[in-house]
Amino acid sequence: MLQYIIVSTTGTVLIRGARQLLTLRGPKEPRRRAALNDLGIIHDGSLLIRDGIVEEVGTTRRIENLARARNAMEINAAGRVVMPGFVDCHTHLVFPPSGGPDPDEHTAARLVCSNTHQRLEARARSHLEAMARHGTTTVEAKTGCGADESAEMKLLRVLSALKHDPLDVVATFLLRLPPDESGEEARQAAIESVLTELLPKIRRRRLARFADLVWDSDGVSPECFARYLRLARGLGFPCKIHADQRSPAAAIATAIEHLVVSISHLEHATAADVLPLGGSPTMVTLLPGGSLHNGGHYAPARALIDAGAAIALATNFNPRHTPMLSMQAVVALACLRMGLTAAEAISAATINGAHALGCADRVGSLEPGKSADLLLLDVSDYRELTRQFGANLVRLTMKRGKPIYKAGEVARRPPRELRRG
Ligand SMILES: [Zn+2]
Repeated sequence: MLQYIIVSTTGTVLIRGARQLLTLRGPKEPRRRAALNDLGIIHDGSLLIRDGIVEEVGTTRRIENLARARNAMEINAAGRVVMPGFVDCHTHLVFPPSGGPDPDEHTAARLVCSNTHQRLEARARSHLEAMARHGTTTVEAKTGCGADESAEMKLLRVLSALKHDPLDVVATFLLRLPPDESGEEARQAAIESVLTELLPKIRRRRLARFADLVWDSDGVSPECFARYLRLARGLGFPCKIHADQRSPAAAIATAIEHLVVSISHLEHATAADVLPLGGSPTMVTLLPGGSLHNGGHYAPARALIDAGAAIALATNFNPRHTPMLSMQAVVALACLRMGLTAAEAISAATINGAHALGCADRVGSLEPGKSADLLLLDVSDYRELTRQFGANLVRLTMKRGKPIYKAGEVARRPPRELRRG
């Protein structure tokens, strides 16, 4: 295993003879409607990688005859599916932290402060490694301690330490207001301190890529959130909205008006609520794993697709309440519970997820010039992803052309032992 990884870290790699090579190649824009069903499949496909970058993609016959393929290290993909690594564009990787009894938000923030950086980092790293084993190659991670500056900065430093190893981690500052009981004044004060102190500091130190907010309009006027979005954008943050509350119509209207990059959850939205998202550049991130764990409402995915909305799929992973971190399971759930086709779900979990993170120029599809972030699946048809719910079908995960996970063998008992047993 170790040798395998060392051998393959340099030079050219040829992935040869995939039964289905899902390239996801296509237009530069997020996929909508029928385009979601186009996986750009090459039957008997091969792929040439140089220095971590996809150099050539095509039929095996063409690629294996290229002069550059001659001395390449070869990975045999015969009979298998090769596809881009999953982009998990919405997780709560580090907050609320695991360990101890279920805390309220204030206690959870205190828990962040009382844990050492090393401990928080080690826990997050073990989750990231599990994600890599299940085929994720890029992941977004949100904070969410509220206006507690020291807790927020600590989480952001943890995320910064985890940035590129083994996955790319994209950090998002998530504004979460103090609970209702604290009163409107406390909530307004929290927004003010975030806007005037915390957010500019995060920007100066480049600790987060996006500014997100938990839409919670009880006691806070939508104008307050609009101000947050305006100022965050003014500081240079692309914005997101986290809309898991009942009646998300106001959140949807604000998302469209302020051109946020993505709005997520929408478990309580109706088909009529989501119509305005049809022609909007705002990505809708669907989180069926969250629905499975937390009460069973699913976002109206079919209505969104039919309206022409761009959709992405993500885990909403959170070590406490949504511990499911497999994007394979998310793809299966999207098909089984939300009525997506396997192809729509895969597009949403790869290229559209990359769009939701502003990195679709580098990841999310297997095209020349892009990072060789890819998976070898132990199946001959991608539709098995939806049939084998709960199974890990990943045989190999590659990040920038390097294997970061390879499935192990199951030992067989020697014949003599079998006779005795
Ligand atoms: Zn969430």
